[in-house]
Amino acid sequence: MKRVLLKLSGEALAGDKKTGFDEATCIGVAKQVKTLVESGVQVAVVTGGGNFWRGRTSETIDRVKADQIGMLATVMNCIYVADIFRYVGMETEVFTPFTCGAFTTLFSKDAAVSALNNGKVIFFAGGTGHPYFSTDTGAVLRAIEIEADYMLLAKAIDGIYDSDPKSNPDAKKYETITIEEMIEKKLMAIDMTASIMCLENRMPMLVFGLNEKNSIANTMAGEFTGTKVEV
Ligand code: UDP
Repeated sequence: MKRVLLKLSGEALAGDKKTGFDEATCIGVAKQVKTLVESGVQVAVVTGGGNFWRGRTSETIDRVKADQIGMLATVMNCIYVADIFRYVGMETEVFTPFTCGAFTTLFSKDAAVSALNNGKVIFFAGGTGHPYFSTDTGAVLRAIEIEADYMLLAKAIDGIYDSDPKSNPDAKKYETITIEEMIEKKLMAIDMTASIMCLENRMPMLVFGLNEKNSIANTMAGEFTGTKVEV
């Protein structure tokens, strides 16, 4: 595995607080990513925005505007997490699909791949730049565009289960599952649009819990305890 796209859910960045940032959690993530980078893996990161805002947060305002706020929430997340990464000793660059003045770099495949080749950890903020999409879809799209070998999905839950482990204590975790089966059984580790993109473009995924100790580093070291989604 040479190049991976790491998707961090917004909620996972918030830790137990469920909103905003939990600095200790983010520093922990950064330290793990640093070990990957030092071992020669190229890492691109996508963060969700749910720790601040979701398009469906408001039933009053127009969905397109609500989604724009959601996309801006992911920009705040990426600027924050990228700077935590800088604090632990990595070079970073934040890309967005729309101009944010001097805050970020406008995304292009060439610029992103060149930054990776120069040893930077790159962040894809702002999702796809379009409403009615999610950061899951943005993450799959960018993983495909930069020709990532794997998408790493760090979630609040430690893998894909046959039913919700919160409500069913007998829920079983899959060691491996195909994307077809995941879609057919509606076991949505990522939303449907993102799943279909993964299927059509044969993008494999490793799903694991961000809160498990050293889960990102362990995943890359072959000590994987989550669910592998095969293509
Ligand atoms: N969003 C969007 N287009 C995108 C990516 C994100 O409109 O391409 C918005 C949408 O409102 C979403 C919010 O940004 O609810 C936060 O993204 P995330 O994927 O974390 O949202 P969730 O799936 O948790 O709703």
